[in-house]
Amino acid sequence: MALKINDLCVNCWACVDVCPTQSIVQTRKHFVINPTTCTECEGSYEDPQCASICPIEGAIVEQRTRKPLNPPGSLTGIPPELVAAVAAEMRAR
Ligand code: SF4
Ligand code: SF4
Repeated sequence: MALKINDLCVNCWACVDVCPTQSIVQTRKHFVINPTTCTECEGSYEDPQCASICPIEGAIVEQRTRKPLNPPGSLTGIPPELVAAVAAEMRAR
């Protein structure tokens, strides 16, 4: 099992130093996780450290299911339904 960083990554570097297996590397576009060395922090920490420190909702997902570790609203506290409603209201103006 491994996690994956997607295009939402803003290259803030926060996750790099907390990874116990040095699995997070920089690429031209954004950071990526080496799936062959990522352990999801099992045996080292209770929670995946990269997802615990990442400030961007949805940027780190389960590799197989693409399920975000920090889903929309989980960090900001703003329900995604409210964001969608405000966006729709602004588009209608
Ligand atoms: S889940 Fe843990 S081992 Fe895997 S990339 Fe994130 S910090 Fe590193
Ligand atoms: S903490 Fe999140 S946004 Fe920052 S570099 Fe890592 S994956 Fe990207």
